[in-house]
Amino acid sequence: MKLLVTGGNGFIGSNFIEHVLESRHAEVVVNIDKMTSVASTWIDEKYKDSSSYDKLETDICTLKVTQIPSIDFDACIHFAAESHVDRSVEDANPFITTNISGTLNIAKICDTLKIPMIHISTDEVYGHLEDINENPFDVDDALEPRNPYAASKAAAELMLIAYANVSDTFEYYIIRPSNNYGPRQDETKFLPKLIRCLYTGESFPMYGKGDFWREWTWVTDTADGIVQVLDAIPVENGTKFNITSGITLTNFDMAMYVAERMRRYKQDTTANISFIKDPRGRAHDKIYAIKNSINKGFIDLEYGIEILLDQFFNQDNVAG
Ligand code: NAD
Repeated sequence: MKLLVTGGNGFIGSNFIEHVLESRHAEVVVNIDKMTSVASTWIDEKYKDSSSYDKLETDICTLKVTQIPSIDFDACIHFAAESHVDRSVEDANPFITTNISGTLNIAKICDTLKIPMIHISTDEVYGHLEDINENPFDVDDALEPRNPYAASKAAAELMLIAYANVSDTFEYYIIRPSNNYGPRQDETKFLPKLIRCLYTGESFPMYGKGDFWREWTWVTDTADGIVQVLDAIPVENGTKFNITSGITLTNFDMAMYVAERMRRYKQDTTANISFIKDPRGRAHDKIYAIKNSINKGFIDLEYGIEILLDQFFNQDNVAG
């Protein structure tokens, strides 16, 4: 396959590109990324001598079809987004620009190139459950986002639905992954920060009482789920897919679990947790739980955390 990818320097995008190139699902990947403050050059370095990988450093909001190498692409996987919820609470404008206008621009480009667009949305578009015993959200449930990031992602989905109504040729699919974890995640995110704090003894800031439930999906499982969607298309235009391992824990239980697993590497891993006032206030979603719609196995939490800890303790800067 020949794939156009946006946001391939981000956490999920870079893991996806590595997955499809290493598994030979893709023979060519062209990555479009503006290199925001969370972007990493890891994927560019890894494939700098490879004829299978090319990179265009530009903004998806202003990208023109003429800038894209003339390759007969099979699909576009659209990851690029402003993705940090806390930042969206401080200032929603970049989220509106990139996540909504940028997504519409990518839709028009895909339509012009006559390639299907796989839009990577999020489980956050559903809003949250109030009780862990409620049914998880399924793909046809209403969009009820509760923070500006989630609202911009929901608006992007609606924009695609509307654009498909005004274009006879636009082909698109929507994938809503749950919370991902895995290698090379931004240091400010929950697990990388937790592992570093457990290692250094620094206090770990836990929002509220740590009683927010999250689903934890290994990033390569998400990449593999996206490949399954690619292999399955064309299906009904606009089909939506949830991807989740269904492994659900509160943030506090996750912190205790990682501290316990880390004892294999370091004797004293007492979690020094400070419970802090939640900057998201009422917008902090209580429980995310979605019904998986991809037929695949998922790696379990013990294995995933083991890989992360192994990688952490094998870094040059850590005297494990
Ligand atoms: P990320 O923030 O790590 O990476 C986003 C990438 O997009 C970065 O490389 C950034 O430079 C690029 N980008 C941002 N604005 C751009 C612009 N205007 N033009 C070009 N490039 C731009 O995000 P991630 O965690 O890898 O998430 C990828 C996608 O998956 C996002 O759409 C996000 O909403 C969705 N998602 C993420 C998770 C998760 O747990 N990380 C869960 C569900 C859905």
